[in-house]
Amino acid sequence: MSWDFETEPEFQEKLDWITEFVREEVEPLDVLFPGLEFTPLSDELRAIVDPLKQRVRDEGLWACHLGPDLGGAGYGQLKLSLMNEILGRSGWAPIVFGCQAPDTGNAEIIAHYGTDEQKARYLQPLLNGEIFSCYSMTEPQAGADPTLFTTRAERDGEEWVINGWKFFSSNAKTASFLIVMVVTDPDVSAYQGMSMFLVPTDTPGVDIVRNLGLGSEPEEEGSHALIHYDNVRVPLDALLGGEGQAFAIAQTRLGGGRIHHAMRTIGMCNRAFDMMCERALSREVSGGLLAEKQFVQGMIADSYAQIRQFRLLVLHTAWEIDRYQDYRRVRKDIAAVKILMPGVIQDVVLRAIQVHGALGVSNELPLARMLLAGPVLGLADGPTEVHKVTVARQVLREHRPSDDLWPTEHLPKRVAAAREKYAKALEHAVGNL
Ligand SMILES: Cc1cc2nc3c(=O)[nH]c(=O)nc-3n(C[C@H](O)[C@H](O)[C@H](O)COP(=O)(O)OP(=O)(O)OC[C@H]3O[C@@H](n4cnc5c(N)ncnc54)[C@H](O)[C@@H]3O)c2cc1C
Repeated sequence: MSWDFETEPEFQEKLDWITEFVREEVEPLDVLFPGLEFTPLSDELRAIVDPLKQRVRDEGLWACHLGPDLGGAGYGQLKLSLMNEILGRSGWAPIVFGCQAPDTGNAEIIAHYGTDEQKARYLQPLLNGEIFSCYSMTEPQAGADPTLFTTRAERDGEEWVINGWKFFSSNAKTASFLIVMVVTDPDVSAYQGMSMFLVPTDTPGVDIVRNLGLGSEPEEEGSHALIHYDNVRVPLDALLGGEGQAFAIAQTRLGGGRIHHAMRTIGMCNRAFDMMCERALSREVSGGLLAEKQFVQGMIADSYAQIRQFRLLVLHTAWEIDRYQDYRRVRKDIAAVKILMPGVIQDVVLRAIQVHGALGVSNELPLARMLLAGPVLGLADGPTEVHKVTVARQVLREHRPSDDLWPTEHLPKRVAAAREKYAKALEHAVGNL
């Protein structure tokens, strides 16, 4: 019997180091250089960020989502969860630790499906933190249902020619290369007829038409690109994995990506929760501290319970991934995590805003900005509804229909069955009356 919630003391020491390092050294970058995380480092930033990355490397904590063969610690998903819930408190921390989305997922699929040449060209600089990458899948007319994608690659001699539009390709403007999902064979089902290509962003025909921002983000800060692939020519060896393998590759990528988002979401929730508690203990209203008012206590208790519940599911799912080494086997729980994620962050941040009053919605606290994380996490990597469908389908596979008109738990049916089972004893009991 092994059922253990304890963290090994040696790893706890690492977590303590990360907590202190992120708070003292990295969180200041969030206020000094907000939104510059995915911009190639200027000389000024390099002088600050490179030594921080080196300290992370010296601690053996660089790119921990990867195995030792690729320069990571090979910690697995459970330890990564415990790390990521600390890193999730800060926008810059994942960059400083070399485990930021979407580069983590992109690195994983190149490591898994890439040729030696592709690994040398794209993976190594990505892992070194020298370049950024972009995953270009969603289209203006279709997102949740990839079978409706129309961007096409056609073979022309020794090249593939890509034509079509992609939407919300995050970080395309600073990425060195794009991983593009396209139709290569329209005559078979989308599950067999789509492929992935590695396309350098400066390839002629890659036209970033504009960058969308989130909420009221100014246009120049937007980082989700609308891209026109206009006769983009790439060599045959730009294909990632085999022809027709895009769905399998996407599943590998998104399985890991979703659970990593969830881990960081715990960090964000904890940050808003800590802010709420501090404010409750600091602010006086109507003859007492906010912390003494039952409505506020209710908000704190509900938030605590929601975060604990969510965290346990994330950690357990991470443990399952480590145990089975197969994202498909854990698909149901990854989808369940994905369903809960937007609600938990939204509830906790909304309560934290409420407890802070007007200051909470102002631009002098990070809460109003964090509020957008709820809807964003309900869409990115697939909308909540689609994950609900996944969970329901998987759950229903484990159940069977009733074998007659009445449900199995129908009491008259159960009473009749129970009477029949114990008929002899019951006859005897009746006889004795
Ligand atoms: C911040 C952010 C970053 C992103 N980054 C990237 C990126 O880097 N690369 C990339 O390719 N994409 C990216 N996306 C796009 C994301 O993957 C899509 O938004 C998502 O797949 C949903 O597609 P859509 O927006 O076209 O919505 P639609 O497909 O139009 O769906 C709209 C709504 O319809 C409902 N719906 C859809 N399908 C079903 C169903 N089967 N049953 C019931 N209801 C349904 C849901 O409520 C859904 O929200 C990003 C999105 C966000 C918000």
